[in-house]
Amino acid sequence: MTAETTPAETGRDFIRDIVQADLDAKRHASIVTRFPPEPNGYLHIGHAKSIALNFGIAQEFGGRCHLRFDDTNPAKEEQEYIDSIQRDVRWLGFDWGDNLFYASDYFERLYGWAEDLIRAGLAYVDDQSQEEIRLARGTLTEPGRNSPFRDRGVEENLDLFRRMKAGEFANGARVLRAKIDMASGNINLRDPVLYRILHAEHPRTGRAWSIYPSYDYAHGQSDAIEGITHSICTLEFEDHRPLYDWFLDKLPVPSHPRQYEFARLNLTYTLLSKRVLTELVRGQHVGGWDDPRMPTIAGLRRRGVPPEAIREFIRRIGVAKANSVVDVGMLEFCIREVLNRTAQRRMAVLRPLKVVIENYPEGQSEELEAVNHPDDPAAGTRKVTFGRELYIERDDFMEDPPKKFFRLAPGREVRLRYAYFITCRQAVKDASGEVIELRCTYDPATRGGNAPDGRKVKATMHWLPAAESIPAEVRIYNPLFTNPAPDAANFTADLNPDSLEVLSDARIEPTMANATADDVVQFERQGYFVRDRDSMQDKPVFNRTIGLRDSFVKDVAKG
Ligand code: ATP
Ligand code: MG
Repeated sequence: MTAETTPAETGRDFIRDIVQADLDAKRHASIVTRFPPEPNGYLHIGHAKSIALNFGIAQEFGGRCHLRFDDTNPAKEEQEYIDSIQRDVRWLGFDWGDNLFYASDYFERLYGWAEDLIRAGLAYVDDQSQEEIRLARGTLTEPGRNSPFRDRGVEENLDLFRRMKAGEFANGARVLRAKIDMASGNINLRDPVLYRILHAEHPRTGRAWSIYPSYDYAHGQSDAIEGITHSICTLEFEDHRPLYDWFLDKLPVPSHPRQYEFARLNLTYTLLSKRVLTELVRGQHVGGWDDPRMPTIAGLRRRGVPPEAIREFIRRIGVAKANSVVDVGMLEFCIREVLNRTAQRRMAVLRPLKVVIENYPEGQSEELEAVNHPDDPAAGTRKVTFGRELYIERDDFMEDPPKKFFRLAPGREVRLRYAYFITCRQAVKDASGEVIELRCTYDPATRGGNAPDGRKVKATMHWLPAAESIPAEVRIYNPLFTNPAPDAANFTADLNPDSLEVLSDARIEPTMANATADDVVQFERQGYFVRDRDSMQDKPVFNRTIGLRDSFVKDVAKG
């Protein structure tokens, strides 16, 4: 685990400490936080950290948390994203109640305040191109240069700004900028852009606006309108805080929220950037936003990851003020921990090898009892059918096994889980020399899996009846990137060509025929699996949520 576990173990972190201190000092009657996604993509597990923090603080301190869409850039925003974000926040287990807001609800007020800034000589219309503005901004070591339009009079500014709003000018022809200080050591204060011209259809306001506020201008004022007490965001906004405060100081806003920054979540083998995730979808490197290989909430859900595991993961990593990278193994640990507790056990054979039990009477079969959960007797038992023809896992047989291979081999006896001891008598091969069938015998005295004479076997294997088991497709997911620190700028170079493995000849227990996409099961010795929504009537599809660690060692020990 990482060094970040410490704050979580105490249940406290520096932001919760600030909130507690503010309440103790009676600076606020109650706490109001917000989660402010831009609806330009699906939420990912990094967002889950922000969601759990904002909604978690509101819950713990008896306050409320708003869901506010930062819908200020209609060029990239869509209703589909607005809908998916609400679905995902709810699925994660959080509730905004009546507090659903949109920055676009405030467009009128934000516009009025922009006119106030112009009247106060604190904003001006700049006719320079985006490129000219960029070039004049200076660098970390060099001051910027004043725009030739910086000293326009109030009346001219008001007139031009109103005409920008009325849609008289083309995209990019002009912007409204704050008049702060082109020599500021903080580049964010070098006359930042407040409004740009954009003729586009907005999901909520349609064509009503031809100008849209920048993030910096909209965000703090939206917080102030909603009475947010603690505006919690990620570290990259630390340098924006002076600007956040500048607007709130200059404008007649109803409250003055405080901004606090925390470290964003980074995960090994994962890219958490909406730009990259959008390109993965658009470039068809994955099947969509909810592809189970995606680190999106929708992808994790489709993969079978329970929301409880995500919340537990977020709790464990804690909240800190220094950026770090969390091992994706920690997320996997949390997923296994929850599923080990909650998932019922079943058997599935992913790569079947036929077994014929030569001394089992033809045309006969029997029902054996299988346990649904080893640690939870209340989960009950189910029947599995044993007969003359079975399937076992192809990997569980080796014709010429190395020393440490304890599973089936010619002449060797193993236990079939819940059933009998069987001994391999012969491997039948096809013309190319591939083993296509095993001829075995069983010991009728070992029914239920124990020998009355106390003799031991070194392996217990899962199996299915050939006739009664159901064909299924199983999808195994591997990391999307081969590089533990994928390069966001050139991510296609780090894509894993084997991130998806499709096993189309798998077999599952008949009890799984009506499984739903909500019930994750453990296929014994294989891992955790969930039915995919792609499943067809005649052939179910199962996603592997995650494999079992050290499954082989563990099963041998249990055997
Ligand atoms: P990305 O950086 O992936 O494009 P974003 O920051 O542009 O995401 P927003 O919709 O603006 O996406 O994010 C909403 C909130 O989620 C913001 O407060 C942002 O700080 C937070 N957030 C985004 N990514 C992470 C992350 N990796 N870890 C923690 N919080 C995050
Ligand atoms: Mg953002």
